[in-house]
Amino acid sequence: MMVKLQENVPLGPKTTMRIGGQARWYAELSTQEDIEEIVRCAEEKNLPLVMLGGGSNTIFADGVIEAVVAKVVAGETEIDTASQSRSNALGEETRVTTHAGKILASLIHELAEKNLDLSPLTGILGTVGGAIFGNAGQGAGGIWLDSFIQDVVFYHEKQWKTWKKEQCGFGYRESAFKTLQAPVIWKVTLNVSARPREETQTEIERLLQKRIETQPHIKTAGSCFKSLPDGTPAWKLIDQARLRGCAHGDLQVAEKHANFLLNTGKATFTDAQILVEEIRSTVTEPLDVEMRFVGEDGKVVF
Ligand SMILES: Cc1cc2nc3c(=O)[nH]c(=O)nc-3n(C[C@H](O)[C@H](O)[C@H](O)COP(=O)(O)OP(=O)(O)OC[C@H]3O[C@@H](n4cnc5c(N)ncnc54)[C@H](O)[C@@H]3O)c2cc1C
Repeated sequence: MMVKLQENVPLGPKTTMRIGGQARWYAELSTQEDIEEIVRCAEEKNLPLVMLGGGSNTIFADGVIEAVVAKVVAGETEIDTASQSRSNALGEETRVTTHAGKILASLIHELAEKNLDLSPLTGILGTVGGAIFGNAGQGAGGIWLDSFIQDVVFYHEKQWKTWKKEQCGFGYRESAFKTLQAPVIWKVTLNVSARPREETQTEIERLLQKRIETQPHIKTAGSCFKSLPDGTPAWKLIDQARLRGCAHGDLQVAEKHANFLLNTGKATFTDAQILVEEIRSTVTEPLDVEMRFVGEDGKVVF
């Protein structure tokens, strides 16, 4: 066995919200062979395989998660220099290939250095894999990762597959990967427009500043609920229900942004579940949960 399998690994520190018990098994995956091996291993142990990226949209149950939790850590990026020359000459886009373990914020900064602009995704924490899975991006009606995607390479049902963007079923915070049984996203090819380094860096700074002013960024997992299909933001409905600032245990609806839940101390998964149910039953419109709540059986609760 090449993959290093660790037993009883704490998951709280692997999530931005710092909530979660332990993974019965945990592994980090650097190669395609590692991925094939971990899928076999989960099957042999008769346990679900739960993929984790940067943990910035996920929390785990408080006890032992009876699953193999695995994280793709490969993060190499390749810029297709031939397409970049054409891009400079003809205004075409440049092809950029990167692995699922790449931290999205690092990718944005590295591309800016190369005069390529991925700045609309500024401020989104976590990995490229997590961003593909949930089609991360600005709010409903904004720019999402799928607008840059050419194709995605992933492992599913013991086969390597490459899906063109059109096959990935992207929508607002949605992708077809969510409907598959334990797909492992490995690599993506993006098409990125040219823009002078200084302009992109100024835009990144502006977007980060805006986020700092309007959103909390420590011990949270970003937006908890999706906007309504008509585009109404969840924070507005939570605010109208006078739930801003309300709490269960150490878990609070953030004062700064009513769609962000904050761990103000030692919040638990149970606190988060109760607060989410309270919000859903108080708000008049049906709210879909955007965060991933993973239960002790490795299944998604919300
Ligand atoms: C302060 C803050 C601000 C945020 N702002 C935004 C925002 O503006 N827009 C937005 O969209 N999100 C936002 N988020 C949420 C979060 O950053 C995104 O959802 C992000 O894309 C999650 O990436 P991750 O790597 O942390 O995924 P994780 O939380 O680790 O995982 C999310 C899902 O992706 C799956 N997954 C991860 N990697 C793989 C893989 N290699 N193969 C298969 N499945 C995989 C996991 O199984 C899980 O279901 C914010 C979060 C924070 C904390």
